[in-house]
Amino acid sequence: VLQTNTTKLARYGGRHNVAVLPGDGIGPEMLEHVEKIFQLAKVPVDFETVNLSSKEDASEDLAEAITAIKRNGIALKGNIETKFDNPTFVSRNMELRRQLNLYANVLHCASIPTIPSRHKNIDMVIIRENTEGEYSGREHEAVGSPRVVESLKVVTREKCEQITRFAFQFAKKYNRKKVTAVHKANIQKLGDGLFLKIAGEIAKSEYPDIEFNSMIVDNASMQLVARPQQFDIMLMPNLYGNIISNIACGLVGGPGLVSGMNIGDDYAVFETGTRNTGTTLAGKDLANPTAFIRAAVDMLRFLGLTAHANVISDSLFRTLVEKRIHTKDIGGEAKASELIASVLEFIEKEIQETNFR
Ligand code: ADP
Ligand code: MG
Repeated sequence: VLQTNTTKLARYGGRHNVAVLPGDGIGPEMLEHVEKIFQLAKVPVDFETVNLSSKEDASEDLAEAITAIKRNGIALKGNIETKFDNPTFVSRNMELRRQLNLYANVLHCASIPTIPSRHKNIDMVIIRENTEGEYSGREHEAVGSPRVVESLKVVTREKCEQITRFAFQFAKKYNRKKVTAVHKANIQKLGDGLFLKIAGEIAKSEYPDIEFNSMIVDNASMQLVARPQQFDIMLMPNLYGNIISNIACGLVGGPGLVSGMNIGDDYAVFETGTRNTGTTLAGKDLANPTAFIRAAVDMLRFLGLTAHANVISDSLFRTLVEKRIHTKDIGGEAKASELIASVLEFIEKEIQETNFR
C-alpha cells in the first residue's frame, strides 16, 4: 500500500527525483533542514523545487506544480496558505490533492517517550478520504441573496470503496487488528449512510479476519480524548478525518510532530499531518522540524530507500528521546537548529560506525 512501484518514478543513474513545494510560512526553512539531512545521509534523491504560493493569481503556478509532481511521481511539500476572505479562492492544497486524485490521507499518531502528553501508549493510524465529501467546493447562495447558502457534501460509491479497501489493505500489510469507521449516519443518512454501508460490506465480505466496528463522530471524539488506546485504524470521510486527525496529533504532542501522506494510484505527496502554515513562527528558528523530517522519512520508505529512512528516523528518535532536545511547542527550550544539529551528529556517528554507504 505504501510502497511504490519504483519503475514508474523518475530515476536517473540510480537516483530519484522528487518535486519539492516549500509553500508558505515555515515550509521553506523546514525543507532546507531536510535537504541538509539528506545530503549528510547520502540519500540518492534530487529535489526539483516548485514555488507555489497563496498569491491571488497563481493558477498557472498551480498547473506547473501539478505537472512537476506528475513528472516526478512524488512530492514533499509545505503548506500553502489559504485566505478565507475571498470566496472564489480555491485552496491550492486541496486542488492539488483533487487533481492528482490523492484519495487517501494517512497519519500515524503514536506516543513518543519523553514528549509530554496526557495519555501514554497511543498507536493509531488515521485514514481519511482526501478528495470529496465536504471538500467538493460546491457551494452557492440563492441568486442575489446571501440569506440562504447551500454547501454540498458529495459522496460517491467509488471513493468510499477505494478508501475502505485502502484501510483494510493497510491493516493487512502492517498487521493492524481493527478498523473503526467514523461517521454521522444517524443524521446524514444518505451520505454517511452510504460510506458506512460500503465499509461494513467490504469488511465482512473481503476482510473477515480483521475486526471492524463503527462509531459516530461525536462519540469518537469523546472516546479519543478519554481512552485513545482503544483505536487502531480509524477510517473516515474527509471533514471528520480532518478534525479527528487534529485531535489525534494533539494527543501525541501537537502540530510539530506528526507527518501525513497523501496517496493515490499514480502519485504520492508527503507533508505534515496537520498541514499548518505556521506563519507566526516563520524565520524565528522556533518551529519543530520533527513533522517535516518524518514526512521526508515516509517518502524514503515509499521509495524503498529503507536504510536511509532508518538512519534518519533513528537519529531523530535519539535526539528527541535520548538527548531530550525538545523545541518550545513540546515544552522545551531548544531551537530548531539545535535539534537539526543533533540529528546530523547522530547520522554522522552512524555513518562512521557502520560504514553506511
Ligand atoms: P498560522 O495560522 O499562524 O499559520 P497554523 O494554523 O499554521 O498557524 O498553525 C496552528 C498552530 O500550530 C499555531 O499555533 C502554530 O504556531 C503551531 N504550529 C504549526 N506548526 C508548528 C511546528 N512545526 N512547530 C511548532 N508549532 C507549530
Ligand atoms: Mg492555519
